[in-house]
Amino acid sequence: MIGVSVFKGVGIGKAFNYEIESIIIPKEMIEENEMDVTLDNLNIAIGNQKTSLEAHMKHVEETIGTSESQIFSAHIEILNDPELISRIRKNIVGKKMNLVAAIDEAKNFYVEMLSALEDHYIRERARDIEDVMEGLLKNILGLSDNPLDNIREATILFAKDLSPSETIHLNDWVKGIVLSEGSITSHSAIVAKAKGIPTIVGYKEAQIPDGKSLILDTVATKLLIDPTESELETYKEKVKEEALHQKRLRQLVKVEAITKDHRHIELFGNVGSAEEALSIVDHGGFGVGLLRTELVYMNSKDWPTEDEQYKTYEGIAKNVNGEVIIRTLDIGGDKTLPYFTFPKEENPFLGLRAIRFCHKNKEIFKTQLRAILKLSAAYPVKIMFPMIGSLEELLEARKCLDEAKESLKAENQAYNEDIPVGIMIEIPSAVFAIDLLSDHVDFVSIGTNDLCQYTLAVDRLNPEVAYLYDAFNISIIRMIDHVVQGCKPKRVKVGICGEMASDVEAAQILVGLGVDELSVSPSMIPYVKEVIINSNYEDLKVDAQRIIKR
Ligand code: PEP
Ligand code: MG
Repeated sequence: MIGVSVFKGVGIGKAFNYEIESIIIPKEMIEENEMDVTLDNLNIAIGNQKTSLEAHMKHVEETIGTSESQIFSAHIEILNDPELISRIRKNIVGKKMNLVAAIDEAKNFYVEMLSALEDHYIRERARDIEDVMEGLLKNILGLSDNPLDNIREATILFAKDLSPSETIHLNDWVKGIVLSEGSITSHSAIVAKAKGIPTIVGYKEAQIPDGKSLILDTVATKLLIDPTESELETYKEKVKEEALHQKRLRQLVKVEAITKDHRHIELFGNVGSAEEALSIVDHGGFGVGLLRTELVYMNSKDWPTEDEQYKTYEGIAKNVNGEVIIRTLDIGGDKTLPYFTFPKEENPFLGLRAIRFCHKNKEIFKTQLRAILKLSAAYPVKIMFPMIGSLEELLEARKCLDEAKESLKAENQAYNEDIPVGIMIEIPSAVFAIDLLSDHVDFVSIGTNDLCQYTLAVDRLNPEVAYLYDAFNISIIRMIDHVVQGCKPKRVKVGICGEMASDVEAAQILVGLGVDELSVSPSMIPYVKEVIINSNYEDLKVDAQRIIKR
């Protein structure tokens, strides 16, 4: 294992170590009489940069997809950010900085501030700001926007990290990417995945000199240095097969996920935005199995109002052709909010997180419940409570939902009285109380990301113990079986929305255990669908039982 695989495949090429070109910032101050022209130049540079980003966006929309192109629309928004622009203008007017220095100071200020926060989504935003501002600086200084354009031979690209714009412009000579930083959810990883380039993140091995002949196998997460002729032959064959495979997968978009012996599995996607919801449809999914609403709160400048939430959730519901399972706010743990001070906690993952936070902050919870309920009048939405650990917690959440319904009724507002209610099973205590919990819900969805963390006592974010974080651990498989068996007599549907469901081998075990629904990263939908339609449910059941009884 040389890192974590973001997109599985094989790449053959020569090593190339890419280092970001450093930009030299001139220090000279401007004179009073140069101020107006500097401010004009700022406006012109921003205008040019927006035009170039719009062109990027169009190119990505045409060549990759609408959801990926939205990364660039977010980049254009950064150039419209009044606080950022005002800081640059103040640097010019108040501190007499030259244009380049003024932009560089504002870039460093926001990047440092956001990077210091623990939240990885916010850190990702810092990376976006850096990307946009550096593009702007290069534009002003007349530097090449992307030196990677010059790659003209089959290459395995090594870098610390890549920006989305660098990744989007990689030409077809780039056969593989190896990043020492980055994460599976980073924007560069999302773009690399969408472009179908085999990619590894978190590579910590020794640097490989430029020009070395390499095979990057991100399926087995290994790197073959100076491969033999016979290894090269074998892998070239694999590359050809994979190209054909991708073509076959694209033909499955409209096909339902039904096993050969007619067991139908609901195949949904996990999303946090309307753009990602579109990506579910692009990849052949049939609904949202997990809407991570915390992203709506995290991208907001203050607590989002009922109206704002309604509009955002509606945008998502409009973009999919099926049901939308809306998870109520799961904040706390590693996810914080810029406008709220969380209590200092020794163990935030064991602290005031998700439903516990909502029970302590009832008004915030009710605002969200009302927004979801209003949406239920017009769209097939379901509501799901995260991190339920006991029957009392569930009943308390249901009581809040009833109160939210009452308040809407009093105002004559429409909502679906029978909105289906579910819970996430991600704490071991919920697994072993499933007989009680299932009496009060319409469905459950197992969050294996947290279930692994809490069952195996392994921090899901700690690379030191990542080797212990294993969704295939027998205890996890047995717990999923226990939940399925507990729900069956009550006709309560069981889904899986943790990352485990995105793994094709795990997906087969999960179907064999009897789950009804899998909700996966949108780009993994075709892969999971393919294994389902090529399997026999009866065989998968036998295999799953063999694993449990080991
Ligand atoms: C999970 O815990 O498996 C899950 C899907 O929720 P999250 O990853 O958002 O905690
Ligand atoms: Mg979770």
